[in-house]
Amino acid sequence: MADLRIGVAGCAGRMGQTLLKQIAATPGCTIGGGTERPGHAAIGQDPAALLGLKATGARVFDDPAALFDACDAVIDFTAPEATVRHAALAAGRRKILIAGTTGLKPEQEQALRMAAVTATIVYAANMSVGVNVLLQVTKQVAALLGPDFDIEVLEMHHKHKVDAPSGTALALGRAAAAGRKVKLDEVAVRARDGITGARKAGDIGFATLRGGSVVGDHTVMFASDSERIELTHKAQDRSLFSSGAVRAALWARGKPAGLYGMNDVLGFKD
Ligand code: NAD
Repeated sequence: MADLRIGVAGCAGRMGQTLLKQIAATPGCTIGGGTERPGHAAIGQDPAALLGLKATGARVFDDPAALFDACDAVIDFTAPEATVRHAALAAGRRKILIAGTTGLKPEQEQALRMAAVTATIVYAANMSVGVNVLLQVTKQVAALLGPDFDIEVLEMHHKHKVDAPSGTALALGRAAAAGRKVKLDEVAVRARDGITGARKAGDIGFATLRGGSVVGDHTVMFASDSERIELTHKAQDRSLFSSGAVRAALWARGKPAGLYGMNDVLGFKD
């Protein structure tokens, strides 16, 4: 079977660069090209050149349609508006989109669901194996402990991150809510400031820290009057996200159109 040609949207970004290295190092796939915002210095270059690797003959485009035409699959860690556009392009060409961008609004997530009628899309706020195990464990612990335990999700990321709480923190909150058989939107407290009043039973609270170069730390706390359980995941290196994303692209090859998550890629049963 020929190598899967994978394109990287936003290939000059923090994740974009990590993804290019991952594709170059993974058997069964090749760098099919990249995109960057119009006017970016990387446009027209060979994406491998951005990493100082041997030239591949691929290009960095400013037009995402050109990237989809040049590739079998596109991995996208960019910005929500771009991800919605990429989903529509994947749908029009019945191609694979691996979407890792966080901070999508409900209507933008709906656009991904619509595109997945004809495109094969894997969408996950966190592509690491460890966090996807943590999501499963969080759901189980929330179900086992019951309502006497207050649930709080704490996260810290680098100072450049633009959305809060992180997509992963929200996914952990959703997993805890699912364990309790409630909807996160009805119990989430996403920020606290001033005289907030006492904590309401059943709330799931979020706290956000930003600073330095932290790749991504998440803790889910379950606190009762007499004991506390804390489940923590610490990302040490962005390669854990890029290896998950490339694994998702290879997994998606030949799969029917649909919206999948990392639980599908990793074979976890809900
Ligand atoms: P970054 O700012 O370093 O990189 C984003 C890149 O996308 C930039 O180079 C930017 O120029 C480019 N870009 C933006 N709009 C574009 C467009 N319309 N067309 C082409 N390129 C465009 O950010 P980052 O740290 O790499 O994170 C990117 C996204 O990935 C964020 O939403 C972040 O939360 C998310 N993320 C997800 C995971 C995961 O596992 N799902 C892990 C890490 C980061």
